[in-house]
Amino acid sequence: MATCGTCGTALDPGKALYDETGMLSCDRCLTLGQVRAGHARSNTNARAIAYGNLVLGAGSFFFTPLSIATFGVLAFVVGNVRSSEAQGAPLPDAGSRIFVAVIGAMLGAASLVLRLVM
Ligand SMILES: [Zn+2]
Repeated sequence: MATCGTCGTALDPGKALYDETGMLSCDRCLTLGQVRAGHARSNTNARAIAYGNLVLGAGSFFFTPLSIATFGVLAFVVGNVRSSEAQGAPLPDAGSRIFVAVIGAMLGAASLVLRLVM
């Protein structure tokens, strides 16, 4: 008898599915796994955007419109952290993400001020 490799439920061989690692999986576990993988992917993207704000901030000294982008990224990072908390899954590195995004936005603001002064 085939059983799900994750939860151990007996599977109808005609309905057995395989996950991406080739393990037998029931419909429920397969869907759960895909949802989790999707969350992990979007979380990785959100983290890359947060830390990328430092690069944007540095770049804004050479290309002014980027300074506006740093404010947008900061807003996105704060919104992303809040929605994760609201979903009951706070991000372990929420503090450092916001910190880095704030530094990026401060660089963006500094480049704007420099531009006005010079
Ligand atoms: Zn299962």
